[in-house]
Amino acid sequence: MSILSNRINNLTESQTMKMNKLARELAAKGVDVISLSLGEPDFHTPGHIKEAAKQAMDENYTYYTPVAGYPDLRKAVAHKLSEENHLDYDASQIVVSTGAKQALANAVLCLVNPGEEVIIPTPYWVSYSEIVKLAEGKSVFINTTVEQNFKITPQQLEEAITPLTKLFMFSSPCNPTGSVYSKAELQGLAEVFERYPQIYIISDEIYEHINFVDSHESIAQFDAIKERVIVINGFSKAYAMTGWRIGYSASNKELATAIDKLQGQITSATCSITQRAGVAAYSGGLESVLQMRDAFKRRRDLVYGLLKDIDGLKVNLPDGAFYFFPDVTSYFGKSYNGKVINDADELSLFLLEEGHVAVVGGDSFGDRKSIRLSYAAADEKLIEAMNRIKGALAKLQ
Ligand code: PMP
Ligand code: GLU
Repeated sequence: MSILSNRINNLTESQTMKMNKLARELAAKGVDVISLSLGEPDFHTPGHIKEAAKQAMDENYTYYTPVAGYPDLRKAVAHKLSEENHLDYDASQIVVSTGAKQALANAVLCLVNPGEEVIIPTPYWVSYSEIVKLAEGKSVFINTTVEQNFKITPQQLEEAITPLTKLFMFSSPCNPTGSVYSKAELQGLAEVFERYPQIYIISDEIYEHINFVDSHESIAQFDAIKERVIVINGFSKAYAMTGWRIGYSASNKELATAIDKLQGQITSATCSITQRAGVAAYSGGLESVLQMRDAFKRRRDLVYGLLKDIDGLKVNLPDGAFYFFPDVTSYFGKSYNGKVINDADELSLFLLEEGHVAVVGGDSFGDRKSIRLSYAAADEKLIEAMNRIKGALAKLQ
């Protein structure tokens, strides 16, 4: 019998982290692996942000900070939300956390009682359903397809709502599909939420700056539901700061106070030095962010051209983030060296073993038909990776 709690026994390991670990292990054995598994910008953190962190250490920003973050950082976040997103929040409504991941977990744990339902459109980011499990909530999935650009309709949303629905959780731009909801599409969803005042909405906007179509739109812009929206954002993607561990939530005051209380019992505030770096990021302008965005757009176009050229993959052109999520069902049932590919997870292991390219199977994103490729890698690596994928897939008969 396991000594471990049911809570942890029921939890699934993060597949993004797992595939990255497998890729690292293979690389440590001397294999030349290209990892397109982890969604992480390949750029360095901009220089002025690193300088601010060095200075913070010299100035002895090395003590515990307030749980919700330094007051000037919370103010900088509120200012950013007002300037960039036209969303009005007071600094007291912002809680800074150890990554957007913790901000998401905080919000779910503060809102969901055991048995309550959380609606999640699929494909979704790997940790959503697992965080709901930790809260002992029940995930209710709305399926989407590549043909509908992986976006749900107001009608699909309304059909998924029950008296037990407490929360709706989504990302736009979306990880893993790169889909971006337009203002009109968000308005359609907001109108449904207006009719159900018991439902809260987690809007994960961590990819807001990696958007190739329009300016970013937040579902929090609709006044009738804003009180019930929790905006989640962070610095990992926009400022290439994945290792610094800083994200935040913006919510109504009651929830912000609850999140502060929860975080105070689990991790306290995030790192003091990281927070000073966060202030520098939000006061240093968007130049580096836009440069990275342009590089991602160029790579998206490059990879799209190469992927379209591979027979058997069904792929759409994503409007944001840095992922492709091709449908790979045409390979199911095919085999190589006696090994049959039954699903997308098996295909991703085959691509790692035979093509030495790490991608993530769609199952952990709630979609068994697809694989996720991150194109946050150098152009030459992407070209080589697509060649390898094409070569490996051609072996399947
Ligand atoms: N949300 C989404 C959709 C993500 O892809 C990620 C990836 N890291 C996160 C949240 C968490 O970001 P972090 O904890 O690095 O701020
Ligand atoms: N968000 C990234 C991804 O989806 C990082 C991995 C993670 O935090 O799970 O790959």
